[in-house]
Amino acid sequence: MTTAVFPGSFDPITRGHLDLIKRASRLFDHLIVAVMVNTSKQPLFTTSEKVAMIQAEVAQLSNVEVKAATGLTVDFMSQVGATALVRGLRNEQDFGYERDIAWMNQSLNADVETVCLLARPPYAYFSSSLIKEVAKMGADITTYVPTAVAEKLLTRLQEQSNG
Ligand code: ADP
Repeated sequence: MTTAVFPGSFDPITRGHLDLIKRASRLFDHLIVAVMVNTSKQPLFTTSEKVAMIQAEVAQLSNVEVKAATGLTVDFMSQVGATALVRGLRNEQDFGYERDIAWMNQSLNADVETVCLLARPPYAYFSSSLIKEVAKMGADITTYVPTAVAEKLLTRLQEQSNG
């Protein structure tokens, strides 16, 4: 049985992430979506909020689990018995970034194989950060994130602007 881990910050989960999760769930026996802390990003949602939001969106996918994870992705993968690390590639910039991380992860643990899935249009054109930017300016973001996530995002942005 092959277990794969799809790690990310998911702040918040987007329709692009969900497309990758669905596609990866067909490639592997068991897929764990790992909500990680990206130390270079300031999150809008807590890890447990993100886990709950993703769980609600993947409830129909029987081989997908969602977990919070801290520390090195390769250490988390050893703990859960995963050998494949799934990432998405949207563009050339993602490629450079993912190539370096994939090299480092394999250097840290030679059993880890990174599998990059090419993001499909229109998902390839947006990120959680860009969605947060346009949401702050009042744009309708339901094209980019599930409705329940859009509601939580708007509530959080309102809470922030109120103080
Ligand atoms: P991280 O901080 O680890 O990059 P993200 O949540 O931003 O976390 O992204 C997690 C993974 O999902 C990355 O591999 C990224 O390339 C991919 N990804 C992000 N947004 C999209 C999208 N819109 N479509 C497809 N893949 C995406």
